[in-house]
Amino acid sequence: QTDRMARLDRLNIIGEMAASIGHEVRNPMTTVRGFLQYMGSKPNFSEYKSQLDLMISEIDRANSIITEFLSLAKNKAMHFKDSDLNAMICEVIPLLDADALRYNCHIKLDLNEIPPVCVDHNSMRQLILNLVRNGIEAMPDGGEITISTAYKQGKVLLSVADQGVGISPEDKEKLGTPFFTTKENGVGLGLAVCYRIVQRHNATITVESEPGKGTSFLIKFAAAAMPQTN
Ligand code: ADP
Ligand code: MG
Repeated sequence: QTDRMARLDRLNIIGEMAASIGHEVRNPMTTVRGFLQYMGSKPNFSEYKSQLDLMISEIDRANSIITEFLSLAKNKAMHFKDSDLNAMICEVIPLLDADALRYNCHIKLDLNEIPPVCVDHNSMRQLILNLVRNGIEAMPDGGEITISTAYKQGKVLLSVADQGVGISPEDKEKLGTPFFTTKENGVGLGLAVCYRIVQRHNATITVESEPGKGTSFLIKFAAAAMPQTN
Protein backbone atom coordinates (compact mmCIF):
# COMPACT_ATOMS: atom_id res chain seq x y z
CA GLN A 1 0.00 0.00 0.00
CA THR A 2 2.66 2.55 0.97
CA ASP A 3 4.72 1.23 -1.94
CA ARG A 4 1.88 2.02 -4.29
CA MET A 5 1.49 5.48 -2.81
CA ALA A 6 5.19 6.15 -3.17
CA ARG A 7 5.07 5.06 -6.78
CA LEU A 8 2.07 7.27 -7.54
CA ASP A 9 3.87 10.18 -5.88
CA ARG A 10 6.91 9.58 -8.03
CA LEU A 11 4.75 9.42 -11.15
CA ASN A 12 3.13 12.71 -10.22
CA ILE A 13 6.49 14.34 -9.67
CA ILE A 14 7.75 13.08 -13.02
CA GLY A 15 4.56 14.38 -14.64
CA GLU A 16 4.99 17.80 -13.04
CA MET A 17 8.64 17.94 -14.09
CA ALA A 18 7.82 16.92 -17.65
CA ALA A 19 5.14 19.59 -17.79
CA SER A 20 7.41 22.40 -16.65
CA ILE A 21 10.31 21.30 -18.84
CA GLY A 22 7.88 21.13 -21.76
CA HIS A 23 6.77 24.69 -21.17
CA GLU A 24 10.32 25.98 -20.70
CA VAL A 25 11.51 24.32 -23.91
CA ARG A 26 8.57 25.64 -25.85
CA ASN A 27 9.23 29.31 -25.19
CA PRO A 28 12.64 29.44 -26.91
CA MET A 29 11.24 27.28 -29.73
CA THR A 30 8.51 29.82 -30.31
CA THR A 31 11.10 32.60 -30.50
CA VAL A 32 13.26 30.69 -32.98
CA ARG A 33 10.21 29.82 -35.07
CA GLY A 34 9.21 33.46 -35.21
CA PHE A 35 12.65 34.55 -36.47
CA LEU A 36 12.77 31.76 -39.04
CA GLN A 37 9.40 32.86 -40.36
CA TYR A 38 10.57 36.48 -40.44
CA MET A 39 13.74 35.54 -42.36
CA GLY A 40 11.67 33.49 -44.78
CA SER A 41 9.66 36.57 -45.63
CA LYS A 42 12.79 38.61 -46.54
CA PRO A 43 14.08 38.70 -50.13
CA ASN A 44 17.73 38.51 -48.88
CA PHE A 45 17.04 35.00 -47.65
CA SER A 46 15.06 33.77 -50.64
CA GLU A 47 17.96 31.49 -51.55
CA TYR A 48 17.38 29.59 -48.26
CA LYS A 49 13.59 29.54 -48.36
CA SER A 50 13.27 25.75 -48.53
CA GLN A 51 15.76 25.22 -45.67
CA LEU A 52 13.93 27.79 -43.55
CA ASP A 53 10.60 26.06 -44.24
CA LEU A 54 12.13 22.75 -43.29
CA MET A 55 13.43 24.20 -40.01
CA ILE A 56 9.98 25.55 -39.23
CA SER A 57 8.30 22.23 -39.90
CA GLU A 58 10.87 20.44 -37.74
CA ILE A 59 10.14 22.86 -34.89
CA ASP A 60 6.43 22.17 -35.35
CA ARG A 61 7.14 18.47 -35.19
CA ALA A 62 9.11 18.85 -31.95
CA ASN A 63 6.28 20.91 -30.57
CA SER A 64 3.68 18.28 -31.31
CA ILE A 65 5.87 15.63 -29.68
CA ILE A 66 5.89 17.76 -26.52
CA THR A 67 2.09 18.17 -26.71
CA GLU A 68 1.51 14.44 -27.01
CA PHE A 69 4.03 13.57 -24.35
CA LEU A 70 2.47 16.06 -21.94
CA SER A 71 -1.02 14.74 -22.51
CA LEU A 72 0.26 11.29 -21.58
CA ALA A 73 2.46 12.31 -18.67
CA LYS A 74 -0.11 14.45 -16.99
CA ASN A 75 -3.74 13.70 -16.33
CA LYS A 76 -4.94 16.94 -17.80
CA ALA A 77 -8.22 18.22 -16.46
CA MET A 78 -11.08 17.19 -18.72
CA HIS A 79 -14.39 18.94 -19.07
CA PHE A 80 -17.08 16.44 -19.87
CA LYS A 81 -20.17 17.76 -21.58
CA ASP A 82 -23.03 16.22 -23.56
CA SER A 83 -21.97 16.86 -27.13
CA ASP A 84 -22.78 16.31 -30.76
CA LEU A 85 -20.00 14.09 -32.05
CA ASN A 86 -20.95 14.73 -35.68
CA ALA A 87 -20.47 18.47 -35.21
CA MET A 88 -17.06 17.88 -33.59
CA ILE A 89 -15.97 15.78 -36.57
CA CYS A 90 -16.99 18.52 -39.00
CA GLU A 91 -15.02 21.01 -36.94
CA VAL A 92 -11.80 18.98 -37.13
CA ILE A 93 -11.85 18.18 -40.87
CA PRO A 94 -10.51 21.56 -42.03
CA LEU A 95 -7.38 20.96 -39.90
CA LEU A 96 -6.71 17.78 -41.87
CA ASP A 97 -7.24 19.15 -45.38
CA ALA A 98 -3.62 20.16 -45.92
CA ASP A 99 -2.28 16.73 -44.86
CA ALA A 100 -4.89 14.94 -46.96
CA LEU A 101 -4.02 16.99 -50.01
CA ARG A 102 -0.30 16.38 -49.60
CA TYR A 103 -0.83 12.61 -49.49
CA ASN A 104 -3.47 12.61 -52.21
CA CYS A 105 -6.09 11.34 -49.77
CA HIS A 106 -9.78 11.94 -49.76
CA ILE A 107 -11.67 12.17 -46.47
CA LYS A 108 -15.20 10.83 -46.75
CA LEU A 109 -17.84 11.42 -44.08
CA ASP A 110 -20.67 9.03 -43.29
CA LEU A 111 -22.34 10.78 -40.37
CA ASN A 112 -25.63 9.42 -39.13
CA GLU A 113 -28.17 10.47 -36.55
CA ILE A 114 -26.77 9.76 -33.08
CA PRO A 115 -27.72 10.76 -29.54
CA PRO A 116 -25.35 13.08 -27.62
CA VAL A 117 -22.22 11.65 -25.97
CA CYS A 118 -20.64 12.98 -22.78
CA VAL A 119 -17.09 13.87 -23.85
CA ASP A 120 -14.23 16.29 -23.43
CA HIS A 121 -14.03 18.53 -26.46
CA ASN A 122 -10.22 18.82 -26.75
CA SER A 123 -9.80 15.08 -26.30
CA MET A 124 -12.21 14.33 -29.14
CA ARG A 125 -10.31 16.66 -31.43
CA GLN A 126 -7.04 15.00 -30.57
CA LEU A 127 -8.53 11.52 -30.94
CA ILE A 128 -9.94 12.20 -34.40
CA LEU A 129 -6.81 14.07 -35.55
CA ASN A 130 -4.46 11.28 -34.47
CA LEU A 131 -6.53 8.50 -36.01
CA VAL A 132 -7.05 10.27 -39.33
CA ARG A 133 -3.38 11.33 -39.54
CA ASN A 134 -2.33 7.71 -39.06
CA GLY A 135 -4.78 6.72 -41.78
CA ILE A 136 -3.33 9.29 -44.14
CA GLU A 137 0.22 8.18 -43.35
CA ALA A 138 -0.76 4.57 -44.02
CA MET A 139 -1.64 5.45 -47.63
CA PRO A 140 1.53 6.75 -49.28
CA ASP A 141 -0.09 6.39 -52.71
CA GLY A 142 -3.29 8.08 -51.67
CA GLY A 143 -6.74 6.67 -51.08
CA GLU A 144 -9.87 7.20 -49.10
CA ILE A 145 -10.45 7.60 -45.37
CA THR A 146 -13.96 7.17 -44.10
CA ILE A 147 -15.06 8.69 -40.81
CA SER A 148 -18.42 7.36 -39.78
CA THR A 149 -20.80 7.53 -36.85
CA ALA A 150 -23.73 5.33 -35.95
CA TYR A 151 -26.00 4.41 -33.07
CA LYS A 152 -26.31 0.74 -32.25
CA GLN A 153 -27.53 -1.11 -29.17
CA GLY A 154 -27.26 1.86 -26.85
CA LYS A 155 -23.76 2.75 -28.03
CA VAL A 156 -22.53 5.61 -30.17
CA LEU A 157 -19.97 4.31 -32.65
CA LEU A 158 -17.17 6.27 -34.24
CA SER A 159 -15.04 4.62 -36.86
CA VAL A 160 -12.04 5.74 -38.86
CA ALA A 161 -11.19 3.44 -41.75
CA ASP A 162 -8.41 3.67 -44.33
CA GLN A 163 -7.28 1.70 -47.38
CA GLY A 164 -3.65 1.71 -46.31
CA VAL A 165 -0.83 -0.70 -45.64
CA GLY A 166 -2.58 -2.42 -42.75
CA ILE A 167 -1.08 -3.80 -39.52
CA SER A 168 0.49 -7.21 -38.99
CA PRO A 169 -0.93 -9.38 -36.18
CA GLU A 170 2.34 -9.00 -34.19
CA ASP A 171 2.24 -5.22 -34.43
CA LYS A 172 -1.45 -5.17 -33.56
CA GLU A 173 -0.55 -6.39 -30.05
CA LYS A 174 1.71 -3.39 -29.53
CA LEU A 175 -0.76 -0.67 -30.54
CA GLY A 176 -1.23 1.90 -27.82
CA THR A 177 2.13 1.21 -26.18
CA PRO A 178 3.99 4.52 -25.80
CA PHE A 179 6.84 4.90 -28.31
CA PHE A 180 5.79 1.96 -30.48
CA THR A 181 6.26 3.08 -34.07
CA THR A 182 7.08 1.47 -37.41
CA LYS A 183 7.69 4.81 -39.15
CA GLU A 184 11.10 6.22 -39.91
CA ASN A 185 10.13 9.58 -38.47
CA GLY A 186 7.50 8.28 -36.09
CA VAL A 187 7.32 8.98 -32.40
CA GLY A 188 4.75 6.43 -31.36
CA LEU A 189 2.70 8.59 -29.02
CA GLY A 190 -0.38 9.27 -31.16
CA LEU A 191 -2.19 6.01 -30.47
CA ALA A 192 -1.05 5.89 -26.84
CA VAL A 193 -2.80 9.24 -26.42
CA CYS A 194 -5.91 7.89 -28.20
CA TYR A 195 -6.05 4.81 -25.98
CA ARG A 196 -5.71 6.94 -22.87
CA ILE A 197 -8.49 9.26 -24.05
CA VAL A 198 -10.78 6.32 -24.79
CA GLN A 199 -10.05 4.86 -21.36
CA ARG A 200 -10.85 8.13 -19.60
CA HIS A 201 -14.19 8.25 -21.41
CA ASN A 202 -15.06 4.70 -20.32
CA ALA A 203 -15.28 3.90 -24.00
CA THR A 204 -13.70 0.99 -25.89
CA ILE A 205 -11.46 0.91 -28.93
CA THR A 206 -10.97 -2.01 -31.30
CA VAL A 207 -8.89 -2.42 -34.43
CA GLU A 208 -9.52 -4.44 -37.54
CA SER A 209 -6.80 -4.64 -40.10
CA GLU A 210 -5.86 -6.58 -43.16
CA PRO A 211 -2.28 -6.10 -44.32
CA GLY A 212 -2.27 -4.55 -47.77
CA LYS A 213 -5.97 -3.74 -47.61
CA GLY A 214 -6.54 -1.27 -44.82
CA THR A 215 -7.28 -0.65 -41.18
CA SER A 216 -10.26 0.53 -39.23
CA PHE A 217 -10.45 1.78 -35.66
CA LEU A 218 -13.82 1.52 -33.93
CA ILE A 219 -14.65 3.44 -30.76
CA LYS A 220 -17.80 2.78 -28.75
CA PHE A 221 -19.19 5.38 -26.38
CA ALA A 222 -22.11 5.05 -24.04
CA ALA A 223 -24.89 7.35 -25.24
CA ALA A 224 -25.40 10.25 -22.84
CA ALA A 225 -29.16 9.97 -23.13
CA MET A 226 -31.73 7.75 -24.74
CA PRO A 227 -32.57 9.03 -28.18
CA GLN A 228 -36.04 10.52 -28.70
CA THR A 229 -38.52 7.88 -29.76
CA ASN A 230 -41.82 9.24 -30.91
P1 ADP B 1 3.38 7.17 -35.10
O1 ADP B 1 2.28 7.63 -36.03
O2 ADP B 1 4.26 8.30 -34.65
O3 ADP B 1 4.17 6.01 -35.65
P2 ADP B 1 1.22 6.19 -33.48
O4 ADP B 1 1.12 5.93 -32.02
O5 ADP B 1 0.24 7.16 -34.06
O6 ADP B 1 2.71 6.64 -33.75
O7 ADP B 1 1.08 4.81 -34.25
C1 ADP B 1 1.90 3.72 -33.85
C2 ADP B 1 2.05 2.69 -34.95
O8 ADP B 1 0.82 2.02 -35.16
C3 ADP B 1 2.42 3.25 -36.31
O9 ADP B 1 3.81 3.47 -36.43
C4 ADP B 1 1.90 2.16 -37.24
O10 ADP B 1 2.81 1.10 -37.30
C5 ADP B 1 0.68 1.66 -36.52
N1 ADP B 1 -0.54 2.27 -37.06
C6 ADP B 1 -1.35 3.16 -36.43
N2 ADP B 1 -2.40 3.50 -37.19
C7 ADP B 1 -2.26 2.81 -38.35
C8 ADP B 1 -3.04 2.72 -39.58
N3 ADP B 1 -4.16 3.43 -39.74
N4 ADP B 1 -2.58 1.89 -40.55
C9 ADP B 1 -1.46 1.18 -40.37
N5 ADP B 1 -0.69 1.21 -39.27
C10 ADP B 1 -1.09 2.02 -38.27
MG1 MG C 1 0.61 8.76 -35.50
